[in-house]
Amino acid sequence: MVKRNVNFNPGPAALPLDVLKIVQEELLDYRGSGMSIIESSHRGKEFEAVNDQAIALVREVLGLGPEYHVLFLGGGASTQFDLVPMNFIGPGQTAAYVDTGDFAARALKECQIVAKAHVAFSSKEEKYRRVPKMSEIKYPDDVAYLHICSNNTIEGSQFQEFPETGKVPMIADMSSDIASRRCDFKKFSLIYAGAQKNLGPAGVTLVVIRDEFLAKANKGLPTLLSYKTHADNKSLYNTPPVFGIYIMKLVLEWIKSKGGLAGVEKINEAKKNLLYGAIDSAPDFYKNPVEKDSRSWMNVTMRLPTEELENKFIADAQKEGLIGLKGHRSVGGIRFSIYNAVSLEEIQKTVDFMGKFHKSA
Ligand SMILES: *Cc1c(COP(=O)(O)O)cnc(C)c1O
Repeated sequence: MVKRNVNFNPGPAALPLDVLKIVQEELLDYRGSGMSIIESSHRGKEFEAVNDQAIALVREVLGLGPEYHVLFLGGGASTQFDLVPMNFIGPGQTAAYVDTGDFAARALKECQIVAKAHVAFSSKEEKYRRVPKMSEIKYPDDVAYLHICSNNTIEGSQFQEFPETGKVPMIADMSSDIASRRCDFKKFSLIYAGAQKNLGPAGVTLVVIRDEFLAKANKGLPTLLSYKTHADNKSLYNTPPVFGIYIMKLVLEWIKSKGGLAGVEKINEAKKNLLYGAIDSAPDFYKNPVEKDSRSWMNVTMRLPTEELENKFIADAQKEGLIGLKGHRSVGGIRFSIYNAVSLEEIQKTVDFMGKFHKSA
């Protein structure tokens, strides 16, 4: 038996064991080709089939029609912070940004380097304790788009509903909650997500773009920085992150085997209820700093009465095989990143540990 920890890493993060086993099994001889998929040409028939299947699976799992282009890019979610304004803010135009956390603020900052941005809402002064009510998001109606971050990975907050933007295209960074529950993805003109939280390994970023929005993209950009280049070439203009795309395909098949987004949503809901339940049942010991109706299903943050206790919690947890619990260096505390690959049984084990730790403290 291989030793496997309960992995709460925020990203790169846990992958489903079933997926890793397939990768292992297929690594030396991919389906009789006599080589691994990462040694195959990205223009060969083996990889082409993987790429086509991955594109089809993204559409199927997210419930998107053929009007969406599915791209697999390098550069991480952070590169999209630049590419989005470069591609979609026309001369003299402004875009609106909702500032709900560290990554949302980084997206805003990058936009301000290449164009003008309007801050449609910010909870920075409230230490990013919440996401806005829909009525609090305000922007001029001639903006190029409205940008939001659906789940704030570091602070542990998440949108539970999305604004109705009418004619204004909506764009979301969904890096840390994509494919974790049902969602009307068709409300968005563009969605991007680094794979390393819910979809696969680091190195590939999923971008989906509605075709009528892409048609309005700025012309004259450097070839590789234009979304249109990648959309016109099924992400094969240059060498794509082949290993990441292959694993993402396997992860999407695994999500399907769990009953698709409805299936993983059920498990994720039970997981977050169990964990927040354990925190709320010891209010003088465990505290979640996020407003209740903004709580994330994916990143559950928590403070203990002192930093010493937090460090002891992390050290004791590690002895039980619970790893990756240290909060982001900018906020401290504890963070449980409970993406799709973390199981309900693992959360039960964690909650049992939390009860024991509280008693012994
Ligand atoms: C992790 C993360 C990013 C950064 O992703 P990279 O792939 O490292 O660039 C951006 N946004 C959100 C919401 C994230 O969780």
